[in-house]
Amino acid sequence: MKNLPKQVFIQEVGPRDGFQMEKQIIPTEDKITVIDMLSECGFKEIQFTAFVNPKAVPNMADATELCAKIKRKPGVNYVALIPNKRGYERANEVGIKKVELTLSATDSHNISNLNCTSLQSITQLEECLALGLDTEISVGLAVVFGCPFEGRPPFERIKMLVDKTIGLGIKELTLADTSGVGDPVQVYDICSRLKDAYPQIHFNLHLHNTHGTSIANIVAAMQAGIFRFDSSVSGLGGCPFAPGASGNVATEDLVQILSFMGIETGIDIDKIISVAQHTAKIVGHSDSATLRAGKMGSLAEGGSAIQP
Ligand code: ZN
Repeated sequence: MKNLPKQVFIQEVGPRDGFQMEKQIIPTEDKITVIDMLSECGFKEIQFTAFVNPKAVPNMADATELCAKIKRKPGVNYVALIPNKRGYERANEVGIKKVELTLSATDSHNISNLNCTSLQSITQLEECLALGLDTEISVGLAVVFGCPFEGRPPFERIKMLVDKTIGLGIKELTLADTSGVGDPVQVYDICSRLKDAYPQIHFNLHLHNTHGTSIANIVAAMQAGIFRFDSSVSGLGGCPFAPGASGNVATEDLVQILSFMGIETGIDIDKIISVAQHTAKIVGHSDSATLRAGKMGSLAEGGSAIQP
């Protein structure tokens, strides 16, 4: 297959994107155990919490406590999600070195998620940058590949928001398929057009697996020159606007399939499967082909499916 990389970068986002979606409150101690286990798997970045309004997202109310209590492994960057300037200041106060500021490709999603328009979120980004703090900011653009309210945003709209973001000096941008409705042709098209327009920018893809298309979309994105992906241990996560929707592509599924394709991730497959099993026990569910069907190759070796 043409244009495949030798290695890709994976950011684990389960503790943030996954735990925030859980209806029951996950005890802080359980989150710490999962994050500490993830730190041993080989990730260079773990998105582990969000500095958001705890009334809106009760499971992220312990962000400050988590920062103080997780075991920080040297060489691992612990990233937090933020919605605005207030979140940025809170993250900086507790020593977070990198944040992802989230906004949406459509106004409807931005308003329902953040209570302001996409351009007002860009103003928040400008205000964060003007503070001159030492916490690096990347930007996450939600619903790039389809919005539950507006459908697929026009490319010109995506490009306008990417233009403005990059114009402010942002070097890393996550394109998110928040609802999991993208298809490989569309993903290839958008990724290659953006990559051509901004070869110097690190684009990262964040794909929910609502319709089972995330791995196919990742292959398409790699062919378009994108080599950074988010994934979520045990397939944690969901979409508040699509009841029953799956979470992110499961990290253990992604690591396994990439390994079979000869693409290095730096992630220890046995360790990440153990974290996935442990995480599934904590939340009481999982969405992981690996946990359902076992480690790839294990049937040929006389093994059997791993029970969560
Ligand atoms: Zn997500």
